[in-house]
Amino acid sequence: MAHLLIVEDDELLRDGLCAQLVHAGHSVSSASDGAQAQTLLEATRFDGVVLDLGLPVVDGIAVLQWIRQRLAALPVLILTARDGVDDRVQGLNAGADDYLTKPFEMAELLARLQAMLRRSRLPAFGGSLEVQSTHNRSLRLDPVLPLGWLGEEAMELTHREWSLLSLLVNNMGQVVGREDVLSVWQTEPQEGGTVASNALEVYVHRLRRKLTDSGLNIRNVRGLGYMLESDAE
Ligand code: CA
Repeated sequence: MAHLLIVEDDELLRDGLCAQLVHAGHSVSSASDGAQAQTLLEATRFDGVVLDLGLPVVDGIAVLQWIRQRLAALPVLILTARDGVDDRVQGLNAGADDYLTKPFEMAELLARLQAMLRRSRLPAFGGSLEVQSTHNRSLRLDPVLPLGWLGEEAMELTHREWSLLSLLVNNMGQVVGREDVLSVWQTEPQEGGTVASNALEVYVHRLRRKLTDSGLNIRNVRGLGYMLESDAE
């Protein structure tokens, strides 16, 4: 569950978005113009923003620039008009994390938001990076480089192993979906190319070996994904 801000001046669309996102389990606040959005952003901590670019009072691009100056890591998905290619480019240049062109399918918005929120939980965006195992050896990950430590011992990790393990650590005790891992991998230029979904098992297998005797285990949650858990539970 995330706390989201919806900024959209079209009342029908705004209400529809809010209802769907609440239905999807998120808590939602909304604003109908840019100034109202800024007031809410100053008062409350949000996990993500859906921002229409065509807004009254203060337009979407100005709100986006304002967000980037103050809340550098806050994920923002922009909504643009179908023919608004310039808007889209301008929005991405101003620091939007993703965009959708109107009209869009609600299912697509939900999927993109989910992927955006998962990415934002990666350590590079300030997520937590350390978990304690029962054996009193903590697992720590470098926030930027593909490095990890089990107690005092360094772990050798490829970039993909590191981002998979980061997702698991940041969501310790919760299921990380297969699709979430694949969508994070696809946004990373380091190892390039598309990832076959059966490659995920290979990476999980390698990480399990690296976590041998650590007191931490990657559990396969059938049909859903993977979960990092400690032996203690
Ligand atoms: Ca609008």
